[in-house]
Amino acid sequence: MNDHLHNNPDLPQAWAPWFSHEYITYFAVRALDGLASLPPVAVKPRPPFGDKVWPVGPKHIDIYKESYQERRHLDPVWSFDYKKRNGDFALEPPSEKTIEPWKVLVIYSTEPDLDLDHDLAVHKNQKITGGSHGWRHMEFRLLTSTFGAAPQSFRVHKDFAALAFENGNDYWGWRYLSRCCHYLADLGNPFHVRVLPAFFLMKNIFSGQTLFKTASAVHQSYEVYVERRFREGFGPFGEALLQGAREGQKAPGSVQRLLPAYMKKAGKTHNAIFYFFLEQYGRDLLDVFSRVNPNGPSETAAQTNKCSADAARVIFRDGSLPALGFLDGITVGILEDVGRMLGMLFRSFADAKVR
Ligand SMILES: [Zn+2]
Repeated sequence: MNDHLHNNPDLPQAWAPWFSHEYITYFAVRALDGLASLPPVAVKPRPPFGDKVWPVGPKHIDIYKESYQERRHLDPVWSFDYKKRNGDFALEPPSEKTIEPWKVLVIYSTEPDLDLDHDLAVHKNQKITGGSHGWRHMEFRLLTSTFGAAPQSFRVHKDFAALAFENGNDYWGWRYLSRCCHYLADLGNPFHVRVLPAFFLMKNIFSGQTLFKTASAVHQSYEVYVERRFREGFGPFGEALLQGAREGQKAPGSVQRLLPAYMKKAGKTHNAIFYFFLEQYGRDLLDVFSRVNPNGPSETAAQTNKCSADAARVIFRDGSLPALGFLDGITVGILEDVGRMLGMLFRSFADAKVR
């Protein structure tokens, strides 16, 4: 079937290769009535509000993918660096360019994993989430405390989107909504709302290094697995997102109100996935991530990302494919829930534009 993100003839090769958040957004967008046929909007500079209340990482630049030049052809299955694409893009808003809202939602949904949330001092406890990036993309309880602020990241970007639309800057309305849907999808990922099974935590309570390294290794392994499935064109993931989003656009209630239940449900799948990776791959997988240093100069997410290719070789090695059926089943359920929330979110904004 020719309905996968990486096969869509409307999207230039310069924007490839594609990453999980883009696949997730793509399927949710396609499920919504009228969203994909909204007319193009003019590309505009970012409105000035918000810089003080929500600081962005010092290295962050708003790139404009509407203006691109194809430069290279990366292998879509073995690409793990969100910054490396087939094209180079404009660093200033290109004048007289327009783009369809659905494309804005898809192509900027990975942006929060670039420098947007990196290298900031947002909380005294941010080390436990691997830095400010982890802090803004997760929220979990550990012992008696709560760590991370992803629900706030979601709310702030939802408000920014609404504000941009109110001020007549539809381009940035959609672009903030794209960032917003990233945080919403993260909150449906078990590894963003839970960090370690209680039993495993107690057993290793005196080895902070073991806990930290195992948690980041299994988390990144799950991300690698999901992304590889999307890139293979694995049907059930796309179907789950489409179905969830179709339900979500008709569902009553608000995303905000459903957020706690959504996070809790995702968290319930955490232990099963965590132990699957440890039991199925054990040392081989942990060894791949042994060079990750929680006290190193760069954020943990940036370090684990460099181990992704080796992790993929272990996870998808010959003989392990039948066992992955277990993960496929759990993940289909997770993605259906993510699709439902994205469907609700997009509907609440698209309703004002679709007539
Ligand atoms: Zn994220």
